[in-house]
Amino acid sequence: AFIYRGEPIRNQFPALHQSVYGKPLVYFDNAATTQKPNAVIEAITAYYSTINSNIHRGVHYLSQEATEAYEVTRNSVAAFINAPHAYEVIFTKGTTDGINLIADTFGYSYLNPGDTVLISAMEHHSNIVPWQIICGKRGATLKVIPMNESGELLMDEFERLLDDHVKIVAVTMVSNSLGTVNPVAEIIKIAHAKNIPVLLDAAQAVQHTKVDVQDLDCDFLVFSGHKMYGPTGIGVLYGKEEWLNKLPPYQGGGDMIKSVTFEVTEYNDLPFKFEAGTPNIEAAITLNTAIDFINEIGLENIERFERELYQYALKQLSFIQGVRIIGTAAHRSGAISLVVDGAHSYDIGVLLDKMGIAVRTGHHCTQPVMDFFEIPGTLRISFAVYNTKEEIDVFITSLKRALTILI
Ligand code: PMP
Repeated sequence: AFIYRGEPIRNQFPALHQSVYGKPLVYFDNAATTQKPNAVIEAITAYYSTINSNIHRGVHYLSQEATEAYEVTRNSVAAFINAPHAYEVIFTKGTTDGINLIADTFGYSYLNPGDTVLISAMEHHSNIVPWQIICGKRGATLKVIPMNESGELLMDEFERLLDDHVKIVAVTMVSNSLGTVNPVAEIIKIAHAKNIPVLLDAAQAVQHTKVDVQDLDCDFLVFSGHKMYGPTGIGVLYGKEEWLNKLPPYQGGGDMIKSVTFEVTEYNDLPFKFEAGTPNIEAAITLNTAIDFINEIGLENIERFERELYQYALKQLSFIQGVRIIGTAAHRSGAISLVVDGAHSYDIGVLLDKMGIAVRTGHHCTQPVMDFFEIPGTLRISFAVYNTKEEIDVFITSLKRALTILI
């Protein structure tokens, strides 16, 4: 187990210390959502027990405290991804919400008939459907960077597709179903040489590796709090100031205005222009605790430890006959997808569940990936900092047992 301050990290996660069906829980569905450390759970209770109030509006003490805490998280997020300014950090509901915000506002401003939006073959549905919707509304076309059988993007094809019609490129940093780590820095460099902005989906990246928006020079970056040990219902959209200022508001309502008459509204400055209505105050404030948790361990340590787990799991899986890994890119992280000859992933998943092991089966919101590999779905395991080699051993033994039942 990952030892931190003389104690296994997992001791800080109460949800990991339960039994399901009388078996100790092995939680390998971290790409879907992570469990929460005590610090985050306690911060949520503390918030509702003390400074609970609406932000940015009240003259009273509690409202000022809550507003300050909310803005403290914005500063922490900015530092976490090395954003130049905290006002370039917009709070959203999550990755999906952030992508919809950009697809809608960017599309409204910059997409016209004949234009192209370029995504990749391994996008989560949340980085496909919002672009389909806006392309449909604006008469633009959605095009896809293809991948090879290993689940690696074809960079030559990317350059070929990147013609003058492309108005924006939107790609994932790490695939949630294949584990592929994409060469996003290179993608951004190539796109920027043609003055084309790039949105990065960092939902499977920020909890595993250091993401530096200035290093990458991405124009937009989105991720979710719940996949990085934080609460559900909060996400981040980072956008370069110049872009966020150029885009129109997404939703209208309270907080995003400076003044309103029935004739005309003057919009608020960044970041408030994009934060209409009462946000998820509790989740925004307690996301700060999750960031502290990650920072205290150190992303380099997390990355090193998780890489070991990942390699260990691949090695152990290689000894099981009939197991085929889907996604064999040279650079992978987070998730391992597999299928087994003669057994359906769902049936294996059900049996593993009864043995206390939480995995995910199906298309993982990446149906086009499954179509590409001509499979209905995979069985996916995905790791977090609290997982152990012993858990992988339990998983491997249980998988073997499930296969002897099924095959
Ligand atoms: N993109 C990727 C790569 C993801 O893994 C996920 C979550 N599975 C999402 C987007 C969507 O995130 P959320 O559901 O938190 O909006």
